[in-house]
Amino acid sequence: MSNVQKMFGSLVFNETVMKDRLPTATYKAFKNAVFKSEPLDLPIANIIANAMKDWALEKGCTHFTHWFQPMTGITAEKHESFITPTADGRVIMDFSGKELIQGEPDASSFPSGGLRATFEARGYTAWDPTSYAFIKDDCLCIPTAFCSYTGDVLDKKTPLIRSMNVIDKAARRVLDILGNPSEKVVSTVGPEQEYFLVDKVLWEQRKDLVYTGRTLFGALPPKGQEMEDHYFGIIKPRVMAFMKELDEELWKLGVLAKTEHNEVAPAQHELAPIFTTTNVSADHNQLMMEFMKRIAIKHGLVCLLHEKPFAGVNGSGKHNNWSLSTAEGENLLEPGKDASSNLQFLVFLAAIIKAVDEYQDMLRVSVASAGNDHRLGANEAPPAIVSMFLGSELTAVLEAIESGKKFNSKTGLQMKVSGDTIPALTKDNTDRNRTSPFAFTGNKFEFRMLGSQASISGCNIVLNTIVAETLNEIADKLENVSDVTTAAKAVVKKIVKDHKRIIFNGDGYTDAWVKEAAKRGLLNLKSTPEALPYMESKKNIALFKKHGIFTEAETKSRVEILFECYNKTLNIEALTMVEMSYKDILPAVNDYLKDLTTTATNKKALGVKSKADIALINKVSAAVDDMYANLEALEKALAAAEKIADVKKAANAYHDKVFAAMAKLRTSADLVETLLGDAYSPYPTYGELLYGVNE
Ligand code: ADP
Ligand code: MG
Repeated sequence: MSNVQKMFGSLVFNETVMKDRLPTATYKAFKNAVFKSEPLDLPIANIIANAMKDWALEKGCTHFTHWFQPMTGITAEKHESFITPTADGRVIMDFSGKELIQGEPDASSFPSGGLRATFEARGYTAWDPTSYAFIKDDCLCIPTAFCSYTGDVLDKKTPLIRSMNVIDKAARRVLDILGNPSEKVVSTVGPEQEYFLVDKVLWEQRKDLVYTGRTLFGALPPKGQEMEDHYFGIIKPRVMAFMKELDEELWKLGVLAKTEHNEVAPAQHELAPIFTTTNVSADHNQLMMEFMKRIAIKHGLVCLLHEKPFAGVNGSGKHNNWSLSTAEGENLLEPGKDASSNLQFLVFLAAIIKAVDEYQDMLRVSVASAGNDHRLGANEAPPAIVSMFLGSELTAVLEAIESGKKFNSKTGLQMKVSGDTIPALTKDNTDRNRTSPFAFTGNKFEFRMLGSQASISGCNIVLNTIVAETLNEIADKLENVSDVTTAAKAVVKKIVKDHKRIIFNGDGYTDAWVKEAAKRGLLNLKSTPEALPYMESKKNIALFKKHGIFTEAETKSRVEILFECYNKTLNIEALTMVEMSYKDILPAVNDYLKDLTTTATNKKALGVKSKADIALINKVSAAVDDMYANLEALEKALAAAEKIADVKKAANAYHDKVFAAMAKLRTSADLVETLLGDAYSPYPTYGELLYGVNE
């Protein structure tokens, strides 16, 4: 066995370990409960807990933790040691089934959006047996769901698991009707994670990077990404060493880290794992982000996961590759090679088309954040308008279905679908449209609007739920009809007719598309405050309620949390700009001006005539005046926004007034920066940050 094979999953309590360490009956009971999404009996949990503990102790663990994903978007853990005192004053190492199944962390300081009054601080964590326990920092980590004492959901995992169950049932209903029953259907995801690496020594000198994860000031260096020489370029040794260690640590945790390369912007990189079940993929993506940060530090680097660390060069996203897979191993979005599977494919495709069109607002909301606002709509990421790319061939197939005409394939690869024809779609004829927010890429959809630092749970809860909804609608129509094939074709035809406005294969970056999309009645929600209220529409509250994903109160609390998060982010950014202006930039300019004026005065005293001195002093002074006026305007806007109690009104003030004032201050401060002598530079420049890792 190779080293990698030995290493892979060595810190995971996975199938192999369980088969090895659990009595056969226990293992079978566990597998059965997981497959059927049923709770485990306590006696079974006791046996599993004990085996987990023995395994963890052998690996050097002293503690365990319920690892959960509160609404902060990252993970949380509270470590407990295994020690239990004995009557004779010693300790034994103990871990019970009850401790495995349920935990009780103090929930009072996690965001709840008003769901949990602070006097009711108790929160519960509950074991998620569908995601393996693993070891991190000598601590046995149990993936868990997190809810309040009253049962309200306070995390990102619970609704994701619920949405997995909902789409499982809906997809199986449709498969049953189409005569291809399955034991289980899961949604699968492979998230491609983009990130930046900067030198830690330089990072420490930038308050904006330290406090906000992005640069709030900084003039562009003479060279940006225009030469396109970084994309897939040779990876520098220090970055390579980081990537190697990252791969190894992730492999130990069973994360299928697969592809790594340099991205478009200087200092930008990407890591893509092999796809897996969505719930596990969400856990793994959290681990990936955590390990990127901690391993970077070991190499004297800092990993920036922010969506837009640098203005003027590309930001970072997280392409969410999504599909549906049966327990029997069939990818339901694989167009397939024979006629019967083609109709099935078209039915699932139609369900997705209808879902994306009817719930474009929810897909947009699922990626809304202050950080991602910098990306969506900028000429680097998909626009804020949700549309679907299907490629010319598949679009032509749908057009033929809609018009009732025969489809003529250019490739000659034709197959019959009860009268109609459809080609075997090869990956190559789903051409690569990088500007589409939701693109069909051969046998999966790639949702490209998600931001790099976001949890993947949010958008997949939405995807699973909306597609489950439309699959159920289709099942309702097809159940009990005598001729399923004819009825299914009619359903596909109607959906194509009603929802084709969402299909767009052209360039999403153009103004022409913005106009065309408006004509088609598609939403263009440009900012987070504009998008978030859509989540609370009657339609969306009803959707989540119907499928048991969120109660009305839970939906509203989530909207509240998202607004709060937006406001806090902008508040911190604005405060940081004010602090950097007073403490870093203005003193630096004054030093420069002091030297310039001293030089000019001295020269004059000596009778040296110099136009340049005075001109430069005037130029710098004028730039500082302008910057100072913008600084005062920002302080005023900020003070006004801070006074607004209502989160939604405050968000509008932060967006319309504070954010606008920040942009003006930045422009004027960046002009000041370009005039400053290098020796007076208040912090490392863009040039140093983007090109700082050379060895
Ligand atoms: P592309 O070249 O289209 O980006 P890749 O094969 O590189 O395709 O895959 C990109 C990502 O999509 C990877 O993370 C991969 O594991 C994931 N992926 C591939 N197939 C599926 C699938 N059926 N479901 C979910 N994700 C998938
Ligand atoms: Mg891709």
